Amino acid sequence: MVANNGTETNREDKLDVLKSTQTVIHKALEKLGYSDEVFELLKEPLRMMTVNIPIRMDDGTVKVFTGYRAQHNDAVGPTKGGIRFHPGVTEKEVKALSIWMSLKCGIVDLPYGGGKGGIICDPRNMSFRELEALSRGYVRAISQIVGPTKDIPAPDVFTNSQIMAWMMDEYSRMDEYNSPGFITGKPLVLGGSHGRETATAKGVTICIREAAKKKGIDLKGARVVVQGFGNAGSFLSKFLHDAGAKVIGISDAYGALHDPNGLDIDYLLDRRDSFGTVTNLFNDTITNKELLELDCDILVPAAIENQITDENAHNIKAKIVVEAANGPTTLEATQILTERGILLVPDVLASAGGVTVSYFEWVQNNQGYYWSEEEIEEKLQKILVQSFNNIYETAQSRRVDMRLAAYMVGVRKMAEASRFRGWV
Ligand code: GLU
Repeated sequence: MVANNGTETNREDKLDVLKSTQTVIHKALEKLGYSDEVFELLKEPLRMMTVNIPIRMDDGTVKVFTGYRAQHNDAVGPTKGGIRFHPGVTEKEVKALSIWMSLKCGIVDLPYGGGKGGIICDPRNMSFRELEALSRGYVRAISQIVGPTKDIPAPDVFTNSQIMAWMMDEYSRMDEYNSPGFITGKPLVLGGSHGRETATAKGVTICIREAAKKKGIDLKGARVVVQGFGNAGSFLSKFLHDAGAKVIGISDAYGALHDPNGLDIDYLLDRRDSFGTVTNLFNDTITNKELLELDCDILVPAAIENQITDENAHNIKAKIVVEAANGPTTLEATQILTERGILLVPDVLASAGGVTVSYFEWVQNNQGYYWSEEEIEEKLQKILVQSFNNIYETAQSRRVDMRLAAYMVGVRKMAEASRFRGWV
């Protein structure tokens, strides 16, 4: 065993996403002139539910899966946020993710607070039937704290519209009403919205366009590296490729591909599996670490947490880093990148397109009247361009980095609403 001389704990602290987000919330509230009481209220979710779900597996044995649902703050409105199916899910991570959802909703000004769910499981090794049983079991287990006006789930890492459909069906059976507004990210035929599947990637693309304008980079011909080929990374690669950018690197959980002349994105999209795996088809791969340090104009971490740290931030060559994943850059790395003049577009802004179109889906479900793809696209575009520029200007005028600026914008409405309700 390694002797604990403090360095190990220090490293763990740096990679602790809950601690990091609390640190920035504290700074943001301080800058906005709020008291420590407001920080005490916002530093943890108001509610956190842990459930154990027994599932009869295909081989006849019973396996018990642990899941969580965190509701950060519902002062502004019902809580909202995805459900993640991943072997690495932890209670702390789900808490941090729920806080990030609150910030996203504040940034794009939706009438929601943040929530998040997660189940410790590996859907890559589960059958369709086992996944259905787990999805339904989770909804039954958390049914008392969720609902169309309480807490509205959605897809996240390794969950998709089929899983949302099973969950909606389970909730509707328990509720004895057809409740499409219980969950977003549903298939179109079950009250899903046009544009929801591509919404996160669309939002990231809008942020990239705005950031490129600020940096005087022409998107046509710009060299882009995208880490992760899941929902966000794959659609994003396609949109950037279609906009004339050269996607020179992509990756999945097992490795990365690099071609300085630009990868054949349509081919890769065609060959990826439903979990975004594609590099296993190639012999000539590089590592994810090498991918992040490639010479490029724009780098988009679209995978998981803690990818850009104080260990590699000095080697990043991109001029713009846009966080499509939640929490891919540590606080030290944020500082290093900012000091090096790299424009960092933080996760809570860059990935807010998903929840924005989720909100459109919920509104359409509530009113029973559905919008066209063009209407959705136009509304999303307007909201994200405005949010980007609001945060960019806040960063300039308050002389803070883009992450702190985003937190300042994102936390304000929640703090105000909590004050008006008499909570603080
Ligand atoms: N899981 C997505 C996120 O992290 C979307 C959440 C939602 O649509 O409610 O932003």
